[in-house]
Amino acid sequence: MNQFTPQPGIMDIALYQGGKAHVEGVANVIKLSSNENPFGPSPAAIEAIRATAGQVHRYPSTDHAELRAAIGEVHGLDPDRIICGVGSDEVLQFVTQAYTGPGDEVIYTEHGFSMYPILARMAGATPVQVPERQRVVEVDAILAACTERTRIVFLANPANPTGTMLTEAEVTRLADNLPGHVLLVLDGAYAEFVEGFDGGAALVSARDNVIMTRTFSKIYGLGGLRIGWGYAPRAIIDVLNRIRQPFNLSTVQLAAAEAAVRDQDWVVRCRAENTLWRGWLAERFAELGIASDQSCANFILARFADRAEAEACDLFLQSQGLIVRRVAGYNLPQALRITVGDESSCRAVVDAVRAFKERAA
Ligand code: PMP
Repeated sequence: MNQFTPQPGIMDIALYQGGKAHVEGVANVIKLSSNENPFGPSPAAIEAIRATAGQVHRYPSTDHAELRAAIGEVHGLDPDRIICGVGSDEVLQFVTQAYTGPGDEVIYTEHGFSMYPILARMAGATPVQVPERQRVVEVDAILAACTERTRIVFLANPANPTGTMLTEAEVTRLADNLPGHVLLVLDGAYAEFVEGFDGGAALVSARDNVIMTRTFSKIYGLGGLRIGWGYAPRAIIDVLNRIRQPFNLSTVQLAAAEAAVRDQDWVVRCRAENTLWRGWLAERFAELGIASDQSCANFILARFADRAEAEACDLFLQSQGLIVRRVAGYNLPQALRITVGDESSCRAVVDAVRAFKERAA
């Protein structure tokens, strides 16, 4: 400690527990801990990154007009209702910072994304955790938890780390029944993995109390570049732009994201691979006596007998150079979240889990 005292509440913020990237003493790890796209970004995005190298002495655009136009075209949305950020994390931060403060409550669910309580506390607000039923979000529990102080409800659909999803009808019921002073934030980080799903865009278009966030980090394979976007009512976009730094996205980020969103063939191919290998993984795990819920995203949540078995399996996988994600911090101590990799990674993780089970038998 030194003589400078941080603002009240800051020391209550838990440090974000990121996915591991290395194992001591293992040179070539297979990383299945951060829900990254094993095929990387579209070749068009890589080309755009190279092409912008000669422009980096110039400041980037402040209004992101070209990227917003491209997103608008591809998704059939009004570009004036789109805002871009440094990952969807930053867009979520804009929303929390703009609409909550000390004395306010922010609702997230039992196994909800760990950034939600962090963002609430960063804004000085109080995070309120609502129970789920068997790893599925319950609309009635959220509605029952709303008070006069509630300002935001965060809902990831599909959810991380459970991979489960609420139906469109349930999400609409939630939006319809929230008190008028509560904003519903639909986090669509994994929306592209669900064929034909708009991430809640139609609901945002039709309501004034719903916001959707999306990312280039998952199916677009650009996690290392940090780009996300939000779609919201115009009045909300106007508010968010006032707290957005003018040059929050670099020339390289903007060009890569624009090229990536225009290459929907890449998205279609990556989604098909993910669906195929996600199903294969879940089946092999089931054969090994390890249950998982039907995942709608690019990972599966493997449930072991108990915490001890999950941790022992994680350590064994690490010894084999495989990194998966412990999710005890998400109230799921008996589970491991495993990203769907390419074919060889999927085979490697199944072989290693089988070896772990055989050793224990
Ligand atoms: N929402 C959810 C549900 C996530 O899982 C993640 C990434 N782990 C994010 C948002 C943030 O992603 P990014 O900031 O990379 O867009």
